[in-house]
Amino acid sequence: MLDLTGRLVVAVGGGPVSARRVKAFLDEGAVVRVVSPWLCEDLRDLADAGRIDWVERDYCGPTDLDRAWFAHTATGEPSVDREVAGDAGALRIWCVDATDASGTSASVAARADVSTPDGRVTVSAYAAGDPGLAVTVRDGVERALVSGTLDLRRTRTHRQHGQHGQHGWVALVGGGPGTDGLLTARGHELLASADVVVVDRLAPRAVVDRLPASVRVIDVGKTSGNHPVPQARINDILVEEAQRGLGVVRLKGGDPYVLGRGGEERDACQAHGIRVEVVPGVTSAVSVPAAAGIPVTHRGVARGFTVVTGHEDIPVLPTGGDHTLVLLMGVTQLARTAELLAQHGRSADCPVAVVERGFAPDQRTTFGTVATIGELARERGVQAPAVVVVGDVVRLGPDWRAGHEADGGTR
Ligand code: SAH
Repeated sequence: MLDLTGRLVVAVGGGPVSARRVKAFLDEGAVVRVVSPWLCEDLRDLADAGRIDWVERDYCGPTDLDRAWFAHTATGEPSVDREVAGDAGALRIWCVDATDASGTSASVAARADVSTPDGRVTVSAYAAGDPGLAVTVRDGVERALVSGTLDLRRTRTHRQHGQHGQHGWVALVGGGPGTDGLLTARGHELLASADVVVVDRLAPRAVVDRLPASVRVIDVGKTSGNHPVPQARINDILVEEAQRGLGVVRLKGGDPYVLGRGGEERDACQAHGIRVEVVPGVTSAVSVPAAAGIPVTHRGVARGFTVVTGHEDIPVLPTGGDHTLVLLMGVTQLARTAELLAQHGRSADCPVAVVERGFAPDQRTTFGTVATIGELARERGVQAPAVVVVGDVVRLGPDWRAGHEADGGTR
């Protein structure tokens, strides 16, 4: 971890090993002089672009290391590399000898720059005489950071929350339709470093239950027709917690931007200058029908689909069975919805499926038609959360034939 910004590094040797290291030195802001009678293509490009100073001849002795802070030798000629390393040592300049790791005063570690919610971290591993081992260790640490297995909260508790320099953040994470497997890797990663998790009823609860006790969970879950925490208050919670310097994950069901008010939460945070990341999720509008074996589009059956909630849009929606209609939050008004669909041109025998509690062990699907679904759902006591699918694709569900035709409407 040397700060090479604006400092001269002398690289002796013009081959690919030298090229790789020279690029790394340049990335760190070093001024690079290359001493070599010839250059490989990569180094030649850098020389042509004026990014390195090329001394076009063999190494001539200590004067070539003039004013250098750091030296690197990779001529492929052991006697020359030894000479460079010896001269550097006499001048008290650290030197990496690429051909003889044992005789060298400095070594290059396997490195990776990893971005975490708390900032960028450089992972650097060194194993004397075994660069392969160093690379394996580096990769392992990098993976643990990215996957969230390495818990960054532990380091954060040693810092002072809310003090100058400690910035809070908010991530609106789409949790998918409720099962952990459908939460994205990025979602898991952010949860692994959150101080506070603000959770919805339809978010993947099992993930929340596994969080360590040090994480504060704020449940703002809504039950149908009952809104314990109003949206404005949720927005305030996100802002207040982030302003205290905490990392906040807002874990939502499905995708934050699909009938999820994610845009409002993002705007509220941004209005207060808070860093917000929005992580898409697997929306229930597509995945819950899929859980019942219903593809929302299918070649030759349906080319497109519309996702709505409520009734306002029904008069203007396409009416053909080849356009799939997906209704979210549609259970309590289902009978009325079916009536309006019929009134506005959907045929009475257009198939309908209602999928309750998608991906839960007690997931249940009720099949019917525009004409029958209201009554069937009432008889079966269909409850939220459920996704309603209207259109010919419903017939593609494996349970449609057996269920619908055998017992007149239900699975
Ligand atoms: N943003 C969410 C939708 C929020 S609206 C998304 O993209 O999925 C809430 C509605 O989603 C519920 O009323 C229900 O219609 C549907 N829903 C969400 N998860 C569900 C699940 N596991 N099973 C059935 N319906 C679900």
